[in-house]
Amino acid sequence: MSFLDKLKQGVTDAGQKAKTVVEINRLKLQAQDLAKQVEEKQAKIGEIVFMSFSQNQTVTVTSEIEGYCHEIVEIQSEIKQLHSKIKELNNEKVCDCGKVVSLETKFCPTCGHQFSMPPEIIDISAISPPLQETKNPNDPKND
Ligand SMILES: [Zn+2]
Repeated sequence: MSFLDKLKQGVTDAGQKAKTVVEINRLKLQAQDLAKQVEEKQAKIGEIVFMSFSQNQTVTVTSEIEGYCHEIVEIQSEIKQLHSKIKELNNEKVCDCGKVVSLETKFCPTCGHQFSMPPEIIDISAISPPLQETKNPNDPKND
């Protein structure tokens, strides 16, 4: 039996399910951590805005603020990815319109979007790239 066959067979095992639960919890923690980072950056923006106001009685959007905003947008998209991976592990997926459907669904009941077929094996190692390496301006998804 090939390695891949063994993997396919293992997907329904109880052990595999337990592993999936662990993985889901790990992803949830990661998402919570990122959400905390967003809050911290928002708080920093608030500080800078208020500092600028208390010094000049005006609010200036500095490049520092813009930097934080860009970071927040990036983190939020990471959080979104984590959430969709969690749904995948729960045998769910999210349509572009936001509708949550089961993995087997071929057409979105809300917007009619046609899904590509689900992968037979979920590659857990591909789920969580290190945070430092997520910046990829050449990512075609950004277009
Ligand atoms: Zn949809």
